[in-house]
Order: sequence, then structure tokens, then C-alpha cells
Amino acid sequence: MKSKAVDYEARLNSLKLDLTYVIARNELELYYQPKVSAETNRIIGAEALLRWNHPKWGIIGPNEFIPLAEKTGFINEIGKWVKKNACRQNKVWQDAGLLKIPVSINLSASRFLERDLITHVMDTLKETKLDPQYLEIEITETLLLENEEVVFSVLDELRNLGIKIALDDFGTGYSSLASLNRFKGKIDILKIDRSFIQGLSSSLEEDSNFIVKMIIQLSHQLKMNVIAEGVETNEQLAVLQKYNCSMIQGYLFSKPIPADEFVKLLKKDNLEPLEYSI
Ligand code: C2E
Ligand code: MG
Ligand code: MG
Ligand code: MG
Repeated sequence: MKSKAVDYEARLNSLKLDLTYVIARNELELYYQPKVSAETNRIIGAEALLRWNHPKWGIIGPNEFIPLAEKTGFINEIGKWVKKNACRQNKVWQDAGLLKIPVSINLSASRFLERDLITHVMDTLKETKLDPQYLEIEITETLLLENEEVVFSVLDELRNLGIKIALDDFGTGYSSLASLNRFKGKIDILKIDRSFIQGLSSSLEEDSNFIVKMIIQLSHQLKMNVIAEGVETNEQLAVLQKYNCSMIQGYLFSKPIPADEFVKLLKKDNLEPLEYSI
């Protein structure tokens, strides 16, 4: 009998090889998850999240294959594909007269530091004719630990193009509050990590409540917008509203869904919070 570890190894090795064909074989797909106003329940944005439709294994999530793509270097090709497809899709929705919203893409730290990033962003916006205000880029805290001069100049260039920058999974990395202060005016949106949202309680005395409240106050102080990710329950939503968190993302409003399903949400415009149950 083969052990689970061997199976897992074998799967990773075959995925690593298959990964080099994903674009040629058209196996990548972007799902979209709405970002919703905490006050009005209107859709105010969307995040593009990558899926791999694997012929043998079915849908594979990014947490499994993005690290592999980073190791093989194929992440650059994938990153370009994501950017182009997210911009193109958003432009299609806009041209169809649907709600105009910014769509965000996730950029891995290694991709952020590639020299051709800015030219590729500019080319993509030109080619897809998407107004830069409708593109957002999500980066993670690990980037804040990289060469500050380089990161600052890339952020400035992106923001000068009119693109908004969000700091993803905020609170889970190793960056300090002092380092965040240096990024004042360079980052537009803080995304509070799901782990803190999960711990929110209506008793208001939990550690998570305190942390979330602090992050929201901090974002206001630094003149950044703030969004809570991974909101699953009405109870969490109520606490976030109480703390004046302006934007919500999570299964409570919708899971990430394929583009043709997302169109239906755009037509609805206002979303009902639907408690998510497993
Ligand atoms: P992320 O950017 O922090 O995205 C949020 C993740 O949380 C997504 O997982 C989303 O499906 C999930 N999520 C959203 N709301 C809820 C909720 O209410 N409850 C729970 N339990 N989960 C929720 P997903 O799609 O598996 O993506 C995982 C990570 O993979 C992303 O985390 C992002 O870091 C990375 N990723 C996704 N797409 C791309 C991409 O195109 N490029 C790169 N470099 N990374 C990507
Ligand atoms: Mg993200
Ligand atoms: Mg996140
Ligand atoms: Mg994450």
C-alpha cells in the first residue's frame, strides 16, 4: 500500500509539470467575489481569485498551486494572464452597461518585484481600454519587509497610473505598526485578515474584537480605507458596522463565483446577507 505522503508527493510533482501547460490548455479561470458596502449592501468592488480547472483533479485552489508556480518561476506568466483577464472582464461588464466597480487582483511579492511589472500593467490597461481607477492591486505585508526604496517606487508608479493598492491579510505578517506608518499615502486600503473576523463576538470583549477595532481606527488615522475579509455571519457584520468598518467581503454576501454568475449579482446591485452554513 502506498502511503499518503507518497501520493501527495506524486500529485505535487505531476501538478508542477502540468502547470507549465495551464495557459496553453486554457485551464485557468477567474472567480469573482463581491466587496459590499457595510452601510448600503451595494456591491462596491470585486476580487478576482484564481482557479485551475485540472482535467484529472478537478478545481484546484490557488493556495495549492501558486506556491508551486512561484518555485518554478511560472508565476510571471500566470500573473500576466490574471491581470489581462481581470481587466478584460471588467471592461466587458462596463461596456454591457453593468455597475462600474473596481476589480482587484492579487500580486505575489516576487511578481511585484519583477522589472517588467509597470510596463505590463500599462500595456494591459491600454489593450483592454480599462480606466485605471477600476483596477486594484492586492499585495501582502511580506512586501513591506523588502527593499523599501524599490517597493516605494513601484507603489508610486502604480498609484500615479491611478491604480489603487490594498494591503491583504493585514495583521498576520511581520510588519510593525511603524512600518505601516511609513506606507501612509502609498496604500489605499487595509484588508483585515479573516482570522480576526472569525474571532469576532457580539460580547465585544474578545481579543479579536479589540484587534479589529484597533485596525479600523488605525486605518482611519492613516487615511486608508478598510475592508473586513471572511465575513460569514450577521453577528460579525453587526460588530463591524458598530466599529465603522466601511466595506465587507465574505461568504455572508457571496462565495467567489464564476464570471457568468457574478453578472447576476451585478444586475442585482444590492445583496442580501445570507448566513453561510457548512
Ligand atoms: P486572499 O487574497 O486573502 O483571498 C481570500 C481567500 O479567502 C480566498 O481564498 C477566498 O475564497 C476566501 N474567502 C473569502 N471569503 C471567505 C469567507 O467568508 N470564509 C472563508 N472561509 N473563506 C473566504 P482562495 O480563492 O482559495 O485564495 C487563496 C489565496 O490565494 C488568496 O488569498 C491569495 O493570496 C491567493 N491568490 C488567489 N488568486 C491569486 C492570483 O491570481 N495570484 C496570486 N499571486 N495569488 C492569488
Ligand atoms: Mg486578496
Ligand atoms: Mg486576504
Ligand atoms: Mg489569504
